[in-house]
Amino acid sequence: LTGLPNRERFRDTLARAIDASRSSARPLAIITLNVDRFKHVNDVLGYAFGDELLKAVAERLRQQVNREGDLVARLGGDEFAILLSRTDARGAVLLTERVSKAFEVPLAFDDQTVDLSASMGVACWPGDADDPDLLMSRSEIAMHAAKSKTAGVLLYSPSLDSASTQTLSLLTDLRHALQHGELRLFLQPKLDTASRQVVAAEALVRWQHPQRGLVPPLQFIPFAEQTGFVRQLTLWMFEEVARQWKALQPARGQLLVAINLSTRDLLDQDFPLRLAGLLKQYGLSSSGFCLEITESAIMDDPQRAEATLNRLAAQGFKLSIDDFGTGYSSLAYLKRLPVSELKIDKSFVMGMETDASDAKIVRSTVDLAHNLGLSVVAEGVESAAILQALHELGCDEAQGYHISRPLPADDFVAWREGWERGLAGLPPVAGGGA
Ligand code: C2E
Ligand code: CA
Ligand code: CA
Repeated sequence: LTGLPNRERFRDTLARAIDASRSSARPLAIITLNVDRFKHVNDVLGYAFGDELLKAVAERLRQQVNREGDLVARLGGDEFAILLSRTDARGAVLLTERVSKAFEVPLAFDDQTVDLSASMGVACWPGDADDPDLLMSRSEIAMHAAKSKTAGVLLYSPSLDSASTQTLSLLTDLRHALQHGELRLFLQPKLDTASRQVVAAEALVRWQHPQRGLVPPLQFIPFAEQTGFVRQLTLWMFEEVARQWKALQPARGQLLVAINLSTRDLLDQDFPLRLAGLLKQYGLSSSGFCLEITESAIMDDPQRAEATLNRLAAQGFKLSIDDFGTGYSSLAYLKRLPVSELKIDKSFVMGMETDASDAKIVRSTVDLAHNLGLSVVAEGVESAAILQALHELGCDEAQGYHISRPLPADDFVAWREGWERGLAGLPPVAGGGA
């Protein structure tokens, strides 16, 4: 697309340049550059425009970097790198200023105009790192810091690194956790609001950390998503459910088990095949599984998400839109997706009793879902009154602390037996569906 060398070529050239600089004792610098808002441009103006933008960035960089021994490369996606031989930090900063200036002219294509800007990180040899890989990763760290602080350009410094070193050690810990059986499968029941039978359960991960104790998912899932580790975690959860499948199933009927997917899973071309492989290995049918996907995960890359969802649906998985009401997906778009359930976000459900507008949102979501032929689950049901109100609104299923907190798999089975014994002695539920 851009005619620029790739990451490998850049790394090799950098390695050779470092070797040459060792004998000449001259400094060198590298700059990692990431285009700002590139994904947004792609989403809003389309891929063709995105391609033009990358070509324009490449061309403008080439114009600025033209000394013998210097190099511009495209590391991948919207990330570029520049090698400046015989240059120190000051020289590198001067170049970033010229690049920023070159980007000031907006890009026009197909009757549209966009402003170009980029975040840049600088790392210098020999001060910041001695070998090419570390030098590249340090300039990337500086670039990420520049992006998150909207600083334009930052020079690498060890203080930027401390956060990323922590990240790396957490990643090592998580890998260890997966390999050494520190992750746990918890289950939280979903009731049929009319019969109050346990019809499904959501699988939720916990980390039994040897020092920190039981770590809740919000302390490591966002991080696992950033680093891509979440793909292994999803497969672990799916396999763990498959492994315990027989023990989890009731004497009569079927327990549907819901598993949470992340954006990364939806972007992974092999993901549907991997699930199919696990089903085959454990001799299970896809019809026992529901896959929960948040609106925001779908909207990250709607085209690819839609393709993956279509494949998963064709394989027989039930699909559910999680945290419904918190994202920005349009109804026109949702209607196209092969989903069969909406899960109303707990923030609306928990506020139903006290906040009239939350109650209206829940009511209209139930109606909307039914009009689209979808079933509705409410999560965050914390009181008997809310459970009853949901039943009266015609909401199909309910999940929440009032029914049960997420439980370790064994406790879940025992809890369900108790619940069913209790049900047998309860008076029938009053009220009717909307
Ligand atoms: P989520 O998918 O929306 O899961 C529901 C969360 O709401 C769970 O928190 C659950 O314990 C909590 N919850 C359920 N009922 C109530 C209630 O009545 N009141 C309140 N206040 N909260 C309630 P948890 O287990 O801490 O999980 C948090 C989030 O972590 C999940 O949100 C999900 O986004 C993520 N997560 C958990 N396990 C996995 C996993 O295996 N894979 C992925 N990708 N994400 C996971
Ligand atoms: Ca969920
Ligand atoms: Ca949710």
